[in-house]
Amino acid sequence: MQGYILDTKPVKDDDLIVTILTENKIYTTYRFYGAKHSNINVGYKIDFELENTLRSDIGRLRDVMQLNYQWILDAKKMYCWQRFIKLFYSHFRDIEDIDNFYFKLLDALSHLMIKQNERRSIIQAYLKLLEHEGRLHTDYNCFLCDIEIEDKISLVRSFVPAHPQCTFAKKFDLYKVKEMFEENSLISFDEEEIDYLWNILLQGL
Ligand SMILES: [Zn+2]
Repeated sequence: MQGYILDTKPVKDDDLIVTILTENKIYTTYRFYGAKHSNINVGYKIDFELENTLRSDIGRLRDVMQLNYQWILDAKKMYCWQRFIKLFYSHFRDIEDIDNFYFKLLDALSHLMIKQNERRSIIQAYLKLLEHEGRLHTDYNCFLCDIEIEDKISLVRSFVPAHPQCTFAKKFDLYKVKEMFEENSLISFDEEEIDYLWNILLQGL
């Protein structure tokens, strides 16, 4: 089976509880001496086996093999990737069954990041996630006053739109946000704006 490591928690000695996102399930697994193995780390894609034990409802993680990304040695890409993946852990807390959209999204994103800037790629992937979950607000109504937004727009957590005068947050030209929401394009955003969008994303999926 293949999956992405969303979280690792030390338990006793060098053992770890490892949470893994696979195509259709989020697995919580137990890894003996996991902390000693360099291939158990948040964000890593692994091939693995699960051994079920009768006494416990948590499977033992075995035969772990790391599946490398082409950019694995690029510290900046790895850092941004890990920050994004960590958000999946809280997003899927207490959820076991998922559709394969998320696994495919991460597969596609890891490929996109070979050539493209990491933060731009991740924001684009996040927009697809919002759309998939029906949380992309392309009606452009302010969530605070419920009046339509024209010309300038602010975005709060989960890229929810608001009037700049209602939130006192950074303003964007509406056409740029429309390009982002409707065409999945970030071409009109400068680096400072990407910084800002990145920080919104880090607040949580
Ligand atoms: Zn408003």
